[in-house]
Amino acid sequence: MPDMEATPASRIAAIQEKIKASTGRAVSEIKLIAVSKTMTSDRIEPVIAAGQRVFGENRVQEAQGKWPDLKARFPDVELHLIGPLQSNKARDAVELFDVIHTIDRSKIARAIASEIERTGRNPRLLVQVNTGEEEQKAGVLPADTDGFVSQCRDEFGLIIEGLMCIPPLDEEPSLHFALLNKIAARNGLKELSMGMSADYESAVALGATYVRVGTAIFGKRG
Ligand SMILES: *Cc1c(COP(=O)(O)O)cnc(C)c1O
Repeated sequence: MPDMEATPASRIAAIQEKIKASTGRAVSEIKLIAVSKTMTSDRIEPVIAAGQRVFGENRVQEAQGKWPDLKARFPDVELHLIGPLQSNKARDAVELFDVIHTIDRSKIARAIASEIERTGRNPRLLVQVNTGEEEQKAGVLPADTDGFVSQCRDEFGLIIEGLMCIPPLDEEPSLHFALLNKIAARNGLKELSMGMSADYESAVALGATYVRVGTAIFGKRG
């Protein structure tokens, strides 16, 4: 749990230190996403003031309520969509987000491709993999990932940069991180979005290039 006496800057610095200690790679290869879901703008602004520029949200509609204004004031902020995407929200998602981590079915891939074509915007894209094969969880199954990534490239003309996963709550996350790494490697994908407040060190040790950290930066969500 974060030390609530600490400032956003000191919490972020502590996380960056742990990231550095978890890998022999250059720290610049691992991008820290501050997950600001449920946080209001007045909780987010001190984190921006502390120098953090990469943020993640899990709901398109919630993000639309706070980020257009924040982005207008802090134009160098980069916004990541890390939550499930419905195809009727593809237009809003392409308009607002710089990176979308949750492409996981043909219908979404097609909708995103058509919005990219229509708007000329070019969000970076990752495919979400349901590494735990959980029924209620979004993401393409591990066995279907190679085919889906090819379909995104060949049928929809999308550039997929990497893979994302959310391991099951009750399982050792490192097994899932290692699996995601292996699927990415065999598909020639360089970005790995994995690791949250409780397990980002293990994710970094297993090759994460994006870690998604909420609680350890903002404190507990309400
Ligand atoms: C909320 C969320 C996170 C951050 O979780 P913390 O445990 O607060 O760090 C990361 N990834 C996704 C997809 C989330 O929804």
